[in-house]
Amino acid sequence: MTNPIARAAQWDAQDPLAAFRDRFLLPLTQQGEPAIYLCGNSLGPMPKAAQDEVAEVLASWSTRGVRGHHEGEHPWLVYHERFAPSLGRLVGASAQEVVAMNTLTVNLHLLLASFYRPTDSRFRILMEAGAFPSDRQALASQIEWHGYSPADALIEVAPTGPKGAWKTDDFIVAMETAGDTLAVVLLPGVQYRNGQVLDIAALTAAAHRVGATIGFDLAHAVGNIPLQLHAHDVDFAMWCHYKYVSGGPGAVGGAFVHERHGTRTDLPRLAGWWGHERSSRFQMGPNFQPTPGADGWQLSNPPILSLAPLAASLAIFDEAGMDRIREKSHALDRFARELIALRCGERIDILTPIDAGSRGCQLSLRVVAGREHGRRVFERLEAMGVIGDWREPDVIRLAPMPLYTRFIDVERATQCLAQALESP
Ligand SMILES: *Cc1c(COP(=O)(O)O)cnc(C)c1O
Repeated sequence: MTNPIARAAQWDAQDPLAAFRDRFLLPLTQQGEPAIYLCGNSLGPMPKAAQDEVAEVLASWSTRGVRGHHEGEHPWLVYHERFAPSLGRLVGASAQEVVAMNTLTVNLHLLLASFYRPTDSRFRILMEAGAFPSDRQALASQIEWHGYSPADALIEVAPTGPKGAWKTDDFIVAMETAGDTLAVVLLPGVQYRNGQVLDIAALTAAAHRVGATIGFDLAHAVGNIPLQLHAHDVDFAMWCHYKYVSGGPGAVGGAFVHERHGTRTDLPRLAGWWGHERSSRFQMGPNFQPTPGADGWQLSNPPILSLAPLAASLAIFDEAGMDRIREKSHALDRFARELIALRCGERIDILTPIDAGSRGCQLSLRVVAGREHGRRVFERLEAMGVIGDWREPDVIRLAPMPLYTRFIDVERATQCLAQALESP
C-alpha cells in the first residue's frame, strides 16, 4: 500500500498512543478547526486536566486560606514533592535527584553557583557555538561575575558535521585540549535549532576524564527523548516544562543534581529557606542546613498556581511512557521525511540529522530558495492551519509530538508545505 493517506489512516488506527490526543486542547485555526499543532517544541498545548488542577488550587485557597498549606488533597507545603517521581522517570533519575522549581535560566545560575567555582588554573566553560542565547548570556555573565573574561574562559565548539550538525568528537577534542583548565561543560541534550540529540553518555565521560563537571540543558530533550541522567553520571541538569512537557506558559522548570552531589557539605550554594532541611524548616533558625538531594537547591516557597498544570501533563507522560513516545516519534519522523522528499524534493533542506539516534521530535527545515521565500512559506503554512515556528535566520521548525500528532496530520502538513512552496 503506497497511498500516503491510506497508510496514515492505518497507522493511526493501530497507534497505541492515539487516545492521548483527546487529552489535549489543540489551538484552533481561523476556521475554528483544531490546528495541526507542530509547535510543542516551543509551547506545548494545554492538557484538558490542567484546568481541574488549577481549579483545585483556587478552590483550596478560597475555602481554606492559609490552612491550604496543610490541608486538602495536595497541601501546598509539600506540593512540589508530588512531581518528583514523574520527573525522575522523565529524565532517568531518582525522585531525590530532581525538583520542579523556578525557571530554566534561574536554575542554570543556581546550579552554576555550586558547580562553577573557577580558580586561576581551572576556569573555562565549554558550550556549543550558536547555543540558545539565554544559555550563552548566563555563562558569560557567570564568568564575568567571577572576575574572568569570556574571551579567555568561554570555549564555543562549532558544528563541523554535515548540514551544520555537531560532532561528538569535536566536543571531546575541545575538552581534551582545554584539559585541566576546563571547569564546566554545559551542552544541550537536544540542540534547539537543528533538533540534534547529543551523546550524553560519551560527552559526560569525556568531561569527567579531564576533571570537569558537566551539566545539560534539557529544554528540548525532556518529554522528547528518553533520558538516563543518573546512569550516564551527569552532574547537573536543568530544563523548562512549557515545551514538549506541556506544563503551560512560563511553567515552573526542573533541575537535576546527581545523587553523589546531593548530600555534599563542601558545595557552596545560594540558599533560601525552601532548600533548608525539611524537618526543621519551620523552627525558623537563622542558619542554613540544606535538605538532601535536588530539593536543597530551592530558594522560595513555590508558585503553586504555576505548578498545578504540570500535574496534568506529567500524568499523561506517566501513562504513555517515554519509550512508546520515542517509538512513535521515529515513525512520524520517517513518514514526514519520506513525504517531504516526495512532495518538496530539492526545494527543502532538512537540517535535523537523519539517523535515529541523533534526531529528536523536530524537523528543522530550510527553504532552499532563501530566507524571504522561507518566511513566506512559514506564513502560508500558518494560514493553512499548520503551526510551527520560525528561528532566525532561516529555519522553519516543525515538531510532530507523538502525544497529539497523528500520521494523517503529518500527511496533511507535508501537503500544505508543498503547496506553500508553489508560489514564489
Ligand atoms: C527554551 C530554552 C530556554 C528558555 O529559558 P527560560 O529560562 O525558561 O526562559 C533556555 N535554554 C534553551 C536551550 C531553551 O531551548
